[in-house]
Amino acid sequence: MLILHCPYCGVDAEETELHAGGEAHLKRFGPHSSDEDFETYLFARENPKGVHFERWRHANGCGKWFHAARCTATLEVFGTYSAQVTTPPQAIRDAITAKRPGWSWRDVQ
Ligand SMILES: [Zn+2]
Repeated sequence: MLILHCPYCGVDAEETELHAGGEAHLKRFGPHSSDEDFETYLFARENPKGVHFERWRHANGCGKWFHAARCTATLEVFGTYSAQVTTPPQAIRDAITAKRPGWSWRDVQ
């Protein structure tokens, strides 16, 4: 079972207490963007086998959204952090690099 640490209330929440919100760190495009950029924003998602950044909501807890970095193949969790940032914190990226040498941010695109 997937267990994620809520960075807001400090609870280690089981998957059944959480709601998945899809890929994190999407680049948003506004009404004056090209059709191709807007289509990419709406429909294109990463689906890596390995390190992935996701949005989760602590639905049966504090109710807040947060981000999680985890491996989709092993369910290993590298860390969770606030959803109010545009890139993963350096400590999270360092934790991933320590376990996945050669990995780099956004190398899955
Ligand atoms: Zn919480």
